[in-house]
Amino acid sequence: MLISIVAPCYNEEDVLERFHEEVQKISDELLPLGHDMEFVYVDDGSRDRTLAVLRHLADRDSRVRYVSFSRNFGKEAALLAGLRHASGDSVVVMDADLQHPPELIKRMVELRDQGYDQVIARRTRTGDRLTRTLTARLYYRLINRLVDVELVDGVGDFRLLSRRVVDAIVNLTEYNRFSKGLFAWVGFPSTTFEYENATREAGHSSWSFRSLLNYGLDGLLSFNNRPLRAALWLGMGLLLCAGLYTAWIVGAALVHGVQTPGYVTIITAVTALAGVQMVMLGVIGEYTGRIYYEVKGRPHFLVKATNVERTKDLIP
Ligand code: UDP
Ligand code: MG
Repeated sequence: MLISIVAPCYNEEDVLERFHEEVQKISDELLPLGHDMEFVYVDDGSRDRTLAVLRHLADRDSRVRYVSFSRNFGKEAALLAGLRHASGDSVVVMDADLQHPPELIKRMVELRDQGYDQVIARRTRTGDRLTRTLTARLYYRLINRLVDVELVDGVGDFRLLSRRVVDAIVNLTEYNRFSKGLFAWVGFPSTTFEYENATREAGHSSWSFRSLLNYGLDGLLSFNNRPLRAALWLGMGLLLCAGLYTAWIVGAALVHGVQTPGYVTIITAVTALAGVQMVMLGVIGEYTGRIYYEVKGRPHFLVKATNVERTKDLIP
């Protein structure tokens, strides 16, 4: 049984060597149990020496495959490239910054042997800032009402996938990729176990609050069209309110005669409605933008350097 380790790397020169050592240790422990390992590292257009480190690793260890992008295409693209280039019977997806403890791979393989197609590691939120924990909790409560698949707090990309799950994921060719959702969408027998979250070993997290916010919005919009439906309901609700209000004004005018007109009411109505219209346009715009990207059908990434021979199905 061949296990592929897939790790996206963006500016990870400080930890990569350590990361590789750690997974190598695990691979040595798994070898006697009949599990071979290969390592697929995707350099997501790093600005530091990540690619040089990868080349160095590949020289020393023939099981190392690397793919290097022509620029930064984002983690989702890096993940896809990793999955496309992995040839294992199972694939473990994990971050290269040692926040996903390599120790847990053994546990995953054990559970895989019990027949699960997806073995998911769910991190606890100890050590996180309170604000981030709370926003995450709120976000998941909200999003699970809105999207069709179930997303769980703390569940990320750290997981083991069986070959048929990998094939299914790779065959989802959409341009806007939200892995958390894609993994959930694919399904197959899955199991989850918890682990204590580790802090980053070196380098910086590439997530700012703003990028997290945008990521959250992506999750919301890439899985269904419920926001469009919500906009429709909101519009109808407002129309009803406007109708009732008109009836009330007209009624009052018939009974008491014409009152002095209130400009505050008008201003409020105009601004509120304009705001609602803008939001709805924004929602529609988001979907149109997504359609635009999908229609262009551009590749998810471009490869600058790799030591994996290109086969037909590897062309991005
Ligand atoms: N990463 C990537 N491309 C990017 C940003 C991040 O490949 O544009 C990789 C990064 O090298 C790491 C993983 O994705 O292996 C997770 O990134 P990070 O640690 O910044 O995110 P966090 O752990 O804070 O969620
Ligand atoms: Mg990290």
